[in-house]
Amino acid sequence: MANYTTNAINLKTHNLNEADKIITLYSRDYGLLKCVAKGVKKTKSRLGGKMDMFVANTIFAAKGKSLDVICQADLLDGFLPIKKDYTKLSYAFYCTELISSFAVENDPNSKEIYDIFYTVLGDISAAKTDEELIWAVIRFKLELIEEVGYAVQTDFCVKCNNDTDEFSNFSIEMGGVICNSCRRKVYRISQTCPESIEILRYAKKIQMPHEKFAYDMIISTFNLLSEYIAFRANKKLKTPGMIGSI
Ligand SMILES: [Zn+2]
Repeated sequence: MANYTTNAINLKTHNLNEADKIITLYSRDYGLLKCVAKGVKKTKSRLGGKMDMFVANTIFAAKGKSLDVICQADLLDGFLPIKKDYTKLSYAFYCTELISSFAVENDPNSKEIYDIFYTVLGDISAAKTDEELIWAVIRFKLELIEEVGYAVQTDFCVKCNNDTDEFSNFSIEMGGVICNSCRRKVYRISQTCPESIEILRYAKKIQMPHEKFAYDMIISTFNLLSEYIAFRANKKLKTPGMIGSI
């Protein structure tokens, strides 16, 4: 690719020198990108706040020798409510960390992953309650892991295909529910409850949390998914512990 234009969300920034920053972005057309934003630290810079974390822009970039250079950025959404609310900020950081864990350069699924990421930042911005906020992030997690090939199975036992149980066991290794007759045959079962499995099924389809789901059930479903994703990402993800203490 020569010079290019793409929609991209800033994941990370760090200082390169007195005037410039290196920006890590997730772009809709090319997946993960690392670019230089020249002069961004000068007060008169046209890039200015557009290079902050969680900001989505249409960027115009020039191919560089090692790193590409962002020449221009047209703001798509700054997701400002995220920056004014500590809880929203924590969840947005967490989503960013998940994107960074699974993102690759020239990602073949970049359009889908970008859209999932853009949607969750909008949903986090718009959330009016903690339930709505966490529900949005559960939806994000389910969609992201499905996109990268680790979809969670909630409809039948991943060991024997039984679909008649009221499931309350989840296998982190196998990525799905386990029926009562298989539970002794499977190593490392996470005990959960039928409500958590129901939340996983609902969250795939319904945009807002149903009032029948208690807040602590939504949280425990969130934590179950975090455990599964940390296993798939093959590393301990930082933010969930922090979220648990909010
Ligand atoms: Zn089974």
